[in-house]
Amino acid sequence: MSLKERDKKHIWHPLTQHKIHPDALPIVKAKGALLYGEDGKTYIDGIASWYTAMYGHCNDYILKQVQDQMKQLDQIVFAGFTHEPAIRLSEELIKILPENQEKIFFSDNGSTANEVGIKMALQYHFNRGEKRNTIIAFEDGFHGDTFGAMSASGLSVYNGPFEDFFIDVKRIPTPNFENIDDIIKLLERYMAANTVAAFIYEPLVQGANAMHMYETRYLDQILNVCKENNVITIADEVMTGFGKTGKTFASDYIETKPDIISMSKSLTAGFVPMAVTSCTQQIYDAFLDDSVGKAFFHAHTYSANSIACTVALAGIELLQTEEFQSHIERIVKSHSDFNAKIENHPKVKTTRQKGVIYALDLDIEMDRYGKKRYEIFDHFMKNGVALRPLGSTVYILPPYVITQDQLEKVYDTIVELLETI
Ligand SMILES: *Cc1c(COP(=O)(O)O)cnc(C)c1O
Repeated sequence: MSLKERDKKHIWHPLTQHKIHPDALPIVKAKGALLYGEDGKTYIDGIASWYTAMYGHCNDYILKQVQDQMKQLDQIVFAGFTHEPAIRLSEELIKILPENQEKIFFSDNGSTANEVGIKMALQYHFNRGEKRNTIIAFEDGFHGDTFGAMSASGLSVYNGPFEDFFIDVKRIPTPNFENIDDIIKLLERYMAANTVAAFIYEPLVQGANAMHMYETRYLDQILNVCKENNVITIADEVMTGFGKTGKTFASDYIETKPDIISMSKSLTAGFVPMAVTSCTQQIYDAFLDDSVGKAFFHAHTYSANSIACTVALAGIELLQTEEFQSHIERIVKSHSDFNAKIENHPKVKTTRQKGVIYALDLDIEMDRYGKKRYEIFDHFMKNGVALRPLGSTVYILPPYVITQDQLEKVYDTIVELLETI
């Protein structure tokens, strides 16, 4: 039996309507920017496997570090024990995070990183004797699929059956020139009663919301209103972190720094799952007390797994090398050259770019998970390019190591789509 047939027997895939969805494609190997299918074909990974494998799949440098660490120490309970990879990672992260970040809390995926951030914010107020239980979030944000993170996510296609069980979330639209004054007024109204605990947001680029981008200065205005009202700000950098926007963090573009930052995805380079929630000294201090009751009682069994920490350390090291910085510059420049070529194409409605993230909206009507979307997906796969269109949006977020030839192939395949659709 082929992997394809065996897969169908027992596996329930994420984000999949199994009644209509085509079979999952078995991948037997990955290296650099290439995926190798069971069918003998290779595919260029145009989205770095959900923006995780940014240093290239099975990166040799990271592999070597992992092998060494595996022989030394695998896993230890992180409540009451500690180890060097976690300590070093906390030191390295604090060096590259915005300067107000001081403490590092470990978990194991992007949703839990946000869950931790939301719980920290709620308990921060609780510990200080204030009852604040409302979270503010953007209308079309995405923060993950666990209950707190899901409540804060506004993309209802995922959330329908669960909405009755959500934590209390008030929504604002993403800002632009026209609506920013109204948003500020709305925020002031929400915050008037001192019941808002936190504002959670994807800084500058909303991944799941079809790579929607918005401007720095408006976010700064929103964050300032939060600060004035003692509302904790949580930057969800799960997608934007570690170089993708052209700076180490998207928050580096913004003057007002968040109180809490969540990270995952490329933190561990596509090797193993892990997540981190960082926070300021002020947040941390609100949990210090002679009684245990004020402590942050949250843990995941694999928190700060030593292999995961080792991968993260190697990734951060690579990111800071000249080699990787020049990869990023090259991709940023290539995207903008490509954009100049196609932005006026009659089938292209709009385009946008931030760092190595590039997106274009096709000028055709279609559903996010409809038939047309699969046709477009098939076009890419037939041509050996793995891209996952989000509705009518085609986006590229390639591993930094993608070669120029591979990148050109991705662009050519998009142009071909525009010519034939
Ligand atoms: C992917 C993602 C999440 C969820 O992370 P998981 O590891 O899939 O739970 C949260 N926020 C953003 C911005 C993401 O891109």
